[in-house]
Amino acid sequence: MNEEKILLCLCHMGGGEQKYIAEAFADNWIVPLGPHVTRFEEALSAYAEGLPVVALASGTAAIHLGLLQLGVGIGDEVICQSFTFSASANPIAYLGAQPVFVDSEKKIWNMSPRLLRIAIEDRIKATGKRPKAIVIVDLYGMPADYQELLKIAAEYEIPVLEDAAEALGSKYDGKFCGSFGQYGVISFNGNKMITTSGGGALVCHSQEAAKRTLFLATQARENEPFYHHKEIGYNYRLSNVSAAIGLGQMEILEAHLAHHRHVHELYDAAFSGNEAISLQTNPDSRFDSNYWLCNILLNPEATHKKPEELRQALAAHNIESRRLWKPMHMQPVFAKAPAYTDGTSELLFERGLCLPAGPWVGDREVERVVETVLTFLGS
Ligand SMILES: *Cc1c(COP(=O)(O)O)cnc(C)c1O
Repeated sequence: MNEEKILLCLCHMGGGEQKYIAEAFADNWIVPLGPHVTRFEEALSAYAEGLPVVALASGTAAIHLGLLQLGVGIGDEVICQSFTFSASANPIAYLGAQPVFVDSEKKIWNMSPRLLRIAIEDRIKATGKRPKAIVIVDLYGMPADYQELLKIAAEYEIPVLEDAAEALGSKYDGKFCGSFGQYGVISFNGNKMITTSGGGALVCHSQEAAKRTLFLATQARENEPFYHHKEIGYNYRLSNVSAAIGLGQMEILEAHLAHHRHVHELYDAAFSGNEAISLQTNPDSRFDSNYWLCNILLNPEATHKKPEELRQALAAHNIESRRLWKPMHMQPVFAKAPAYTDGTSELLFERGLCLPAGPWVGDREVERVVETVLTFLGS
């Protein structure tokens, strides 16, 4: 096989990163706290329409500190979208709370407003109290239907945490994804929209919440000349060197977004009119996905081929693809968690595949992927 490998989504350095890392080294800011963390946070905050943003060690840490500040604790129930990556749900368990999974809506693939209402009503009946929080995910960068979901959350007075780990640059109704809940989560892991080699951020809605997040993330150390602690703290701060990488990445974010959207357009043009394939696409003008990954479903009425067979056919041509997320209510680790499902996410898992879309995937690479997919379906 001499075809060059096409990866699903790999990070890409824009050039500014080395300069900022060199600055950090020159000034000996290798310690966790330093000026680049502040500058990175300012850049993120400007991007987040002025909301205060706290840079953390990972997106998972951000979910943990967000839920903690929403008062989630032992014995509470927290509603979480089932169709997601396990990091959306794990912090619920860190806090000794019980996840309750809710299935997705067919068009958008994110939390179903209809099932959210059913789940809330049923949990109140079963436990005598309201779920403590709702974790809504903008999966693959597609915004959830906030108009409907936030109405229900407000009606029952349950706070929302928005897991926008995959959705940096996505918008809903013209507003920044990450801004819809009481807290919003972004990830800078290696395969996300931008990277700090590993890191995340919590988007807050007040300076008090941001200050509290920073306090919890730095070992809950009280402002005293000696080490003084009144609360349990965490070591969740982003390092200054990682933030230096993030600063460089912010300079190429717009170019990345444009590229991901361009790749989606190419797939859209290639697959439109093909009965066997449907490409995940913004359902109407309120939704503006960053198209972090480009995802297809195989239609069983038009093809008997399975996504797993397609994944292997692509791999044989040195093209990496990945099955869609396996829903949390199907995971052995969450087997005992209550779940409100209607088969949607199971169907997505069964029929879907993520195609390569990162900054290294150019027009020629898309052509190769498309050709391999169409050949496989035609054979
Ligand atoms: C990546 C991801 C996270 C976790 O982010 P990390 O920075 O890897 O900890 C959480 N939720 C979703 C949906 C993700 O894709």
